[in-house]
Amino acid sequence: MITLGEGNTPLLRAPRLSERFDVELWLKWEGANPTGSFKDRGMAVAVTRAVERGATGVVCASTGNTAASAAAYAARAGLRAVVFTPRGAVSRGKVAQARAVGADVREIDGTFEDAHREARRLADEEGFVNVNSINPDRIEGQASAAREVVQQLGRVPDVLALPYGGGGNTVAYAVGFGERLPRFVLGEAERRQDTFASAIRIVEPVHRLEVGGVLKRSDGTLVTLTEEQIEEAWRLVAREEGVFCEPASAAGIAAVAASGTAAGQSIVCVLTGHGLKDPDATERLAA
Ligand SMILES: *Cc1c(COP(=O)(O)O)cnc(C)c1O
Repeated sequence: MITLGEGNTPLLRAPRLSERFDVELWLKWEGANPTGSFKDRGMAVAVTRAVERGATGVVCASTGNTAASAAAYAARAGLRAVVFTPRGAVSRGKVAQARAVGADVREIDGTFEDAHREARRLADEEGFVNVNSINPDRIEGQASAAREVVQQLGRVPDVLALPYGGGGNTVAYAVGFGERLPRFVLGEAERRQDTFASAIRIVEPVHRLEVGGVLKRSDGTLVTLTEEQIEEAWRLVAREEGVFCEPASAAGIAAVAASGTAAGQSIVCVLTGHGLKDPDATERLAA
């Protein structure tokens, strides 16, 4: 098993946000994973399986966190890692993280979707394993987070709130919860192309159809958020609860704030990544 000690992250009670929204709000702190995002859960499984299959390396397209995670687990496994990122669109912290552990980071002139195409081409042509969330091993690994939430809370929450980029994490949580789903409240950026929440800068969510199914099955809601709404939620969780996540991670809380929830409900907001990853965005909070 290729592991860096991922998972078993804290489920933190959020007393001030609970009072503000008149609910019982919890934060699933995924920034506490080894490379600072939930991507590690899926990467541990995907890289372990890649080794079993005799892969020469792993490849992915990334808005940053997948790259940092793939790079670390590949280094751990002694595999090569190639990462395609849209030029200039990924936070400096994440690129540095990937390079530090030896990944071959290739910036391309184009969108995340173009990077994704390049990653699939390399996988097809050179025997690399693609570790984007189209790889079912990723979904399987990430599903562990839902089971932890149930264990830590002692029950399925009424609501699960999370950011929606490509939708892989939404699908993974639905798999992890199994038959009994909480109501899914998803926050996506209105400005998917160039939101300051760079982790969810994805124009065409690859899991869109499955996410539609999860929303339907769970009687869920998709909330489209302005930049201001994301920033406000990000500031709130930092100032009121002392948890410094990255901007994209606050989209779930922003969605809860915008959609309105029934009083007294138990709500778990998944904070997907660590604030230190994006020093440029952090200037906004510090200002
Ligand atoms: C990858 C990522 C997301 C988006 O997750 P999807 O599975 O693409 O919907 C959100 N926040 C952070 C910090 C991420 O790294």
